[in-house]
Amino acid sequence: MKALADPYGELKKKPSLPAGMRRRFRDRVLLMTTAECFARCPHCTRSFILGKTETVDTEKKLQDCIEYVRRHPQVRDVLLSGGDVLTLPDSKVMHLVDAFASMEQIDIVRICTRALVDKPERVTDRLSRALSRSGKVWANVHINTAEEAKRAAAAAAKLVNRGIPVSSQTVLLRGVNDTPAKMLALLKALSAARIRPYYVFQCDPVAGICERFSVPLEKAKKIEKYCAERIGGLSLPRFVADLPLSVRKIPLDLL
Ligand code: SF4
Repeated sequence: MKALADPYGELKKKPSLPAGMRRRFRDRVLLMTTAECFARCPHCTRSFILGKTETVDTEKKLQDCIEYVRRHPQVRDVLLSGGDVLTLPDSKVMHLVDAFASMEQIDIVRICTRALVDKPERVTDRLSRALSRSGKVWANVHINTAEEAKRAAAAAAKLVNRGIPVSSQTVLLRGVNDTPAKMLALLKALSAARIRPYYVFQCDPVAGICERFSVPLEKAKKIEKYCAERIGGLSLPRFVADLPLSVRKIPLDLL
């Protein structure tokens, strides 16, 4: 697959979308809420984009996003991403969350964050309580190693104990987690922390990144098979690739 600077067309928004919104899939939209992040992942798909594109940083932009969602009733899932939405103060986080959670058509408001790993003290009891109020918030965390999963466990417990589902998306990375034993250890550590392993992605085809980190497809399939033969479905994520222009994440079996 050809590596591109901006494989998902995130740098420039489509003219039909409000500023700061991205939409690739039918039932969900993503809001770039900030260019800040707690992590500086060397494999970050958005590393060439953050700071160069508009974020939803004014009330007018937020209202435009709400209006767009209202006009598209098939949207039921809003991702508050960036960057990392939890770099914003609680009042701004909750303003964004409540704006969408209060809409009848919305079932899920996702908090996309690395705070659980890199700044666990950010997940306070007060914030966890506020996030749990609507019953619609899910937390999505980007976790790549068993050590990171263990670091995230205490903050994850605060959210899970309030009824907020916590899931992990992992990227299969050369030299980081690309052995069967390392991946199995990660999946076990996530389940032990009550963080649901959700997806393991092939490295996105971002120029300058995938050359360094991507794992050959056949090796990825072997890692998936090894894990599937050793743990149950609750601990087993879907191993997928996120291909540009695809309308869904593609399971490795289909590639
Ligand atoms: S946590 Fe996500 S947005 Fe932040 S640097 Fe890592 S990959 Fe990029």
